[in-house]
Amino acid sequence: MMSNCANPKCAKPLHYLRDGRVFVFDMPDNGKSLGGKRTRHIEHFWLCGTCSQTLAMERSADGAHVVVRPLTRLRAAMAVTGTAMAS
Ligand SMILES: [Zn+2]
Repeated sequence: MMSNCANPKCAKPLHYLRDGRVFVFDMPDNGKSLGGKRTRHIEHFWLCGTCSQTLAMERSADGAHVVVRPLTRLRAAMAVTGTAMAS
């Protein structure tokens, strides 16, 4: 269970769930099978308020990863071109 911010560079202890953002992923269990079926489990990840402003979590075949939010990338690109975006 999550107890710290999922960003390894931050790792702020979790005190209040209302601060930040929780990500829930349906993760496959590696190597285990139950009656021939692959088993899965739900994993929760938390990003603190500061990190969740610019980061998000993404699930891939080898697990969950901290990624830069697409909107943050877009805003960075807009800043370079000098175009404002209404939000
Ligand atoms: Zn954080």
